[in-house]
Amino acid sequence: MIHLNAPLDCKKTLDLHSGAIGFVPTMGALHEGHRSLIQYAKSITPYVVVSIFVNPTQFAPHEDFDQYPRSLDTDLNQCRDWGVDMVFTPSENDIYPNHDRHPNYKPHPAVSTILCGKSRPHFFGGVCNVVERLFSIVKPTHAFFGNKDLQQRVIIEQMVRDLNLNVTIVPCPIIRDENGLALSSRNQYLSKQDYQKALAIPQALNTLKLMIKEKQWNSFQARQFMAAQLEARGLRGDYVEIFRPTESSLVNGDIESGDYCCIAVYCGDVRLIDNLLLKD
Ligand code: AMP
Repeated sequence: MIHLNAPLDCKKTLDLHSGAIGFVPTMGALHEGHRSLIQYAKSITPYVVVSIFVNPTQFAPHEDFDQYPRSLDTDLNQCRDWGVDMVFTPSENDIYPNHDRHPNYKPHPAVSTILCGKSRPHFFGGVCNVVERLFSIVKPTHAFFGNKDLQQRVIIEQMVRDLNLNVTIVPCPIIRDENGLALSSRNQYLSKQDYQKALAIPQALNTLKLMIKEKQWNSFQARQFMAAQLEARGLRGDYVEIFRPTESSLVNGDIESGDYCCIAVYCGDVRLIDNLLLKD
């Protein structure tokens, strides 16, 4: 496995590759969710690049940029064990030289200001900024994104269309732990008590899916049910919405196939997001 810091070295090495390049951008603190993306990438592309970069432009000043978990040595060992070909770990100056954080692309407000974008208005601008810069260095043929961050995946797909980027975005399923909680680098900050509380998230989502099948609930009933379930378990909601990725919009009314319930909650100080496809 090659480990490179400098964008120029990364570019030079990858320019020598004529075949497909699979790319898995991450912020590190790798877990089984990241591993599943890497495995998926390995099954589709012969050469797999992972980037590890905690991107400052997607954090607001009051958010957890400084506290975000960093474990580079462990991450590198894991990437080696998982069969990654190259790990790219740029510095902040490599990605934003001379503090130039000006984005080449701004996501469409209609989709970047709902769901996570409502309480984190800077977030998707920062994500597009870094992903576009990483794409221009790695020049992947395929890039792998988890459905755990469904809205992010939808916005990146839009960016790829808008900028005519020559990369295929491959969505990957959410990986959960044995109790159903979606894996996240931030889960390590949950106390035992908060972890138990957090299990209400997948439980409520799964029950909701059943109720929609049995009772044909609309989006208002679905949201009311979810809010009540989460509140009863002491979880402070940021949002509970029904989202239609094909239209990049929220659903107000009947729930159709392809619609997801997306939620963000605070469990203690930890912000968790999750989603579930409600109708196949
Ligand atoms: P992050 O390091 O949190 O920025 O995530 C990097 C990539 O891993 C993103 O595409 C995420 O959607 C994906 N990812 C994170 N957690 C999971 C999970 N539990 N299951 C599947 N993909 C995930």
